[in-house]
Amino acid sequence: MSKYFYQCNDCGAKYQSNEVTYLCPKCEKHNTPTMPPKGVLKTHYNYEEIKAKYPKVELFKQLEKKAWIDVLPIKSVESFPKLKVGNNPMYHFDTIEGKKLTFELYFKDDSQNPTYSFKDRASVLVSAFAKENNIETIVAASTGNAGSSLAGLCAANNQKAIIFVPKAAPLAKLTQIIMYGAKIVPVDGTYDNAFDLSVEATKQFGWYNRNTAFNPFTIEGKKTVSFEIFSNLKEKSPDFVFVPVGDGVIISGVYKGFEDLLNLGIIEKMPTIVCVQSDKSKNIVANLENEDFVSYPSSTIADSISVDIPRNFYMAKKFIKDFAGHGLLVTDEEIMQASKILSRNTGLFSEPAATTSFAGVLKYMRENKIPKGAKVVTMLTGSGLKDLKSVQPLLDMPAPIKPDVNELKRIF
Ligand SMILES: [Zn+2]
Repeated sequence: MSKYFYQCNDCGAKYQSNEVTYLCPKCEKHNTPTMPPKGVLKTHYNYEEIKAKYPKVELFKQLEKKAWIDVLPIKSVESFPKLKVGNNPMYHFDTIEGKKLTFELYFKDDSQNPTYSFKDRASVLVSAFAKENNIETIVAASTGNAGSSLAGLCAANNQKAIIFVPKAAPLAKLTQIIMYGAKIVPVDGTYDNAFDLSVEATKQFGWYNRNTAFNPFTIEGKKTVSFEIFSNLKEKSPDFVFVPVGDGVIISGVYKGFEDLLNLGIIEKMPTIVCVQSDKSKNIVANLENEDFVSYPSSTIADSISVDIPRNFYMAKKFIKDFAGHGLLVTDEEIMQASKILSRNTGLFSEPAATTSFAGVLKYMRENKIPKGAKVVTMLTGSGLKDLKSVQPLLDMPAPIKPDVNELKRIF
């Protein structure tokens, strides 16, 4: 018997691991291109069996030692590409802009993954699963990060990657995809158009699809960050985790990781997860209280989280509702300001989509919403080098001077 099974987020139907690959067939039938898809699957394990395997005091350490393989849908760590994914540093800072903080501020830096974004956590698992199932070609639709990530990890694992991108994707990400040797398919349309085309291609050509949320293992890969945060805090839960949100898959992954820890009896309480979006791409936060989903056209500078139809809307919403999470909107100006403050105070340079989380922390600080002594984790999900264009307005590049010391004296 397989060590995992699926449950549909929306209708609750359960499936054995060999019965389905992507969405719940019952819910998928009713999906339309203008609404978030229903039928995203959550992967479950036999938690009682895992608990019984190890003494309670050692449980977390044992899971960590075995690279979480007990709670991942693959058989062996040998199937992973030979690049280091995850185990990224979490930095503690106690001062921001010269002000001593009254709470513990941490930055989980996922720009240190091999392709410089959080997406590697999902790609590495999809690649390993493909390897174990003799699948050679993996496709993905992407605004850039998921695509460059899959391209890089497939290159490392001797697999073919085909990446569908909207033509407006940033140059650095497109460059990565091509340099890693993937087949790139630019689509004259939006991310949603690229997504639908890649799903169609999956059906027609029989390729394996890594699309975010559509493939349930994207959530499973992303959840590993929560295990690491718990480990980084010396087996303590954070009080808050600020997550930058577009499609709703990263935040669902963060929740799923902590939910696994709850199911295993390792933690007793879910941290407060803050879902931070730009007010120019607000389709999860703005719909938390709506009965029916309404899409607000997105136009944020933070390209990785610019989404009209969030692919994991219903799961993200359910997690936020079930575990009393917060929805928070920040402006693009606040995101740019946060990028500047982050880099100047910490030496960490993140893309605007990633600093959206820190813009949320700064907003909560201004509004005195963070209790004294709270452990606050800010997720940084991608390197600033991936999207240089959007920070250009922040750059005040001085004019060149003559190579003359008197000129220097004039400046200083
Ligand atoms: Zn269903």
